[in-house]
Amino acid sequence: MSVLVYTESEERKIKKIALEAVSYAKAIADQMGTTVTAVCINADNTSELGKYGASKVLEVSNDKLAKFNGEAYADLIAQAAKKEGAKIVVMTSSANSKFLAPTLAVDLNAGFVPNVVGLPESTSPLKVKHSVFTNKAFAYTEFKTDISIIGLGKNSFGVKENETSITSEAFSPNLDSHDFDMEIVSVDKATDQVTIADAEIVVSGGRGLKGPENWGIIEDLAKTLGAATACSKPVSDMGWRPHSEHVGQTGKPVAANLYIAIGISGAIQHLAGINASKVKVVINNDPEAPFFKAADYGMVGDAFEIVPKLTEKLKEF
Ligand code: FAD
Repeated sequence: MSVLVYTESEERKIKKIALEAVSYAKAIADQMGTTVTAVCINADNTSELGKYGASKVLEVSNDKLAKFNGEAYADLIAQAAKKEGAKIVVMTSSANSKFLAPTLAVDLNAGFVPNVVGLPESTSPLKVKHSVFTNKAFAYTEFKTDISIIGLGKNSFGVKENETSITSEAFSPNLDSHDFDMEIVSVDKATDQVTIADAEIVVSGGRGLKGPENWGIIEDLAKTLGAATACSKPVSDMGWRPHSEHVGQTGKPVAANLYIAIGISGAIQHLAGINASKVKVVINNDPEAPFFKAADYGMVGDAFEIVPKLTEKLKEF
């Protein structure tokens, strides 16, 4: 019996949220004294999952699955779970996983809880904490089913290295019962910007930026670093930036490698959402700003002077 994890990929590249799901599955497997098996569909470099704790990867290579097909993907994962005797299936709480999870739950006669945060309170019975009402509250749910499906909240656990020796196995599930008459023909991305969930680097601005007209310095720095842009709650409340950029306790969680906070005081509700980030850099003109206590690196000074200079220097690399 192993913990099974479904790892999402895009254009054959395993997504960062999938690495987080593997890290999380490994932590649960350690609690239970078992191992992690990953299922990868049409992905390259699957052996890198060993770095995050997977002991085995089931590799599916099937042109019919090149585009997402909820029913077929669910069937495939169900067959993998049965083959491995998995009692826990971990996936991320992405749009695709939320779409396929109910079908998978029916196929496996399993319970499904999305937006799970943190490790289970207990594994026998399995009891998980999950966010509800767009992160405004947490609920605790105990599974009563033999098999449990956990939808891990994006960036709630972080990507954690846990080098494990990994073997790979070709897996060819029987998908004959599925017609592939309906498929997603194309996807028009609303923006080419890096999303907060996938970003390795996030550049975030607060009320210290004084107004939306000054966001050019945040965007320039973000573009130079290939980073996503984010903001504090008041900034999105005032309509300076879209609500989708609001991070923190009531906004999106961030688990980036580098989080740069500019003109943000560091209120506890903001820190709650960015704590899983590895390196935090703070730029603030008040040396007493609470964010400096949580920072790895800090610069005391005027953001309007520091940020353009920093961007200029970084462009030289
Ligand atoms: P401020 O607190 O006004 O800080 C602005 C900072 O900019 C100051 O530190 C100042 O020194 C600095 N500054 C000013 N001028 C400059 C300059 N020229 N150069 C450099 N620095 C400068 N907040 C969130 O962010 N996310 C949440 O999810 C969230 N959830 C909340 C939930 C609840 C229930 C409550 C009550 C509050 C929540 N908040 C949240 C709000 C939070 O408490 C703070 O009010 C908010 O984070 C402050 O935003 P800020 O740091 O941008 O603004």
